[in-house]
Amino acid sequence: MEVKKIAILGSTGSIGTQTLDVIAAHPERYEVYAISAHRSVDKLIEQARLFKPEVVCIADEAYYPALKEALADLPIKVWAGAEAIAQMVTLPSIDVVVAAMVGYAGLKPTMEAIKAGKTIALANKETLVVAGEIICNLAQQYHAPILPVDSEHSAIFQSLVGEEQNEIEKILLTASGGPFRAFTLEQMQHVTAKDALRHPNWEMGAKITIDSASMMNKGFEVIEAKWLFGVPVEKIQVLVHPQSIVHSAIQFTDGAIKAQLGAPDMRLPIQYALSFPERLNSDFPRADLFALKDLTFEEPDLKRFPNLSLAYEAMHRGGNMPCVLNAANEVVNLAFREGRCGFLQMSEIIGQTMEKTAFVTKPTYEDYVATDAEARRIAEQMVNNNK
Ligand code: MG
Repeated sequence: MEVKKIAILGSTGSIGTQTLDVIAAHPERYEVYAISAHRSVDKLIEQARLFKPEVVCIADEAYYPALKEALADLPIKVWAGAEAIAQMVTLPSIDVVVAAMVGYAGLKPTMEAIKAGKTIALANKETLVVAGEIICNLAQQYHAPILPVDSEHSAIFQSLVGEEQNEIEKILLTASGGPFRAFTLEQMQHVTAKDALRHPNWEMGAKITIDSASMMNKGFEVIEAKWLFGVPVEKIQVLVHPQSIVHSAIQFTDGAIKAQLGAPDMRLPIQYALSFPERLNSDFPRADLFALKDLTFEEPDLKRFPNLSLAYEAMHRGGNMPCVLNAANEVVNLAFREGRCGFLQMSEIIGQTMEKTAFVTKPTYEDYVATDAEARRIAEQMVNNNK
């Protein structure tokens, strides 16, 4: 059997480390060829010593000397900087690129990997939020398959196996509702980053956990589903499902609903993206259906979670608007984690940034770069004025 060579962008994050777990469990199938991190240099060194990849890359060049020195006794190429990461993914030996960087920073290297014809295991949803149309066109042009790692999209993808010819009537996208699902608006006014970081079901990185609490994560996932599965956003219904057992479903035109269920564990969608169309054995926890008292589904409350409406609005307006949505969200998400912005203020600032940023109907990659910078500037200014 041929061993697949894997590159992991963001190997020290939550998805990155779980990808390494999956690879370590199947050494006869997968090999770590290249890894990169933003600035978690100690963890990156540890991973490099354990998995001995060909190339290790750190985005923040300030950490290059430390990384280089720590790996000096090993035959590993040590690179640094954003350009080096974009180059790393094009190395001829690489079969699959796991795009698990956080935020807008994932766009450039993912584009380069697609242009090099790599199979993309996509965890970085912001890439599709910001530039879904460009990414999908490139993927088609360069025959680069994009396999979803996001649990909901993996569930949809799994439900679509064997259904390629059949029309989707509706995508049923489930959401846990996050830690503030049952909070009143009054209560939500006073929540802190510490409260938001206590997610009821999923273990994830800090940025996405805040996005989950504000439901921006679900708004992004609506956009992600639109691009991955070619379904207009009007046909994507969000359902709040606090048990996180049904990971999402498809409703077909005959009324049949197909779903994928399981215990909430990201290793399963990661492994499936690597092994598709095969399923590999795993020792991941099984969902015990007898132990489940209820599976419940509610409509999301758009008054308390306006981010979901903002995401639909950004898609309806199209152009660079989803890019604005993402840039403003990255600014307020960080500001909230640093105590510089209130929980409910986040949506207000995102909405206002969408009004104030110049609209571009048919954006190119360069337009996205400019839009991202402009929207960040506007949102940052509002955060500072709000203090
Ligand atoms: Mg998800």
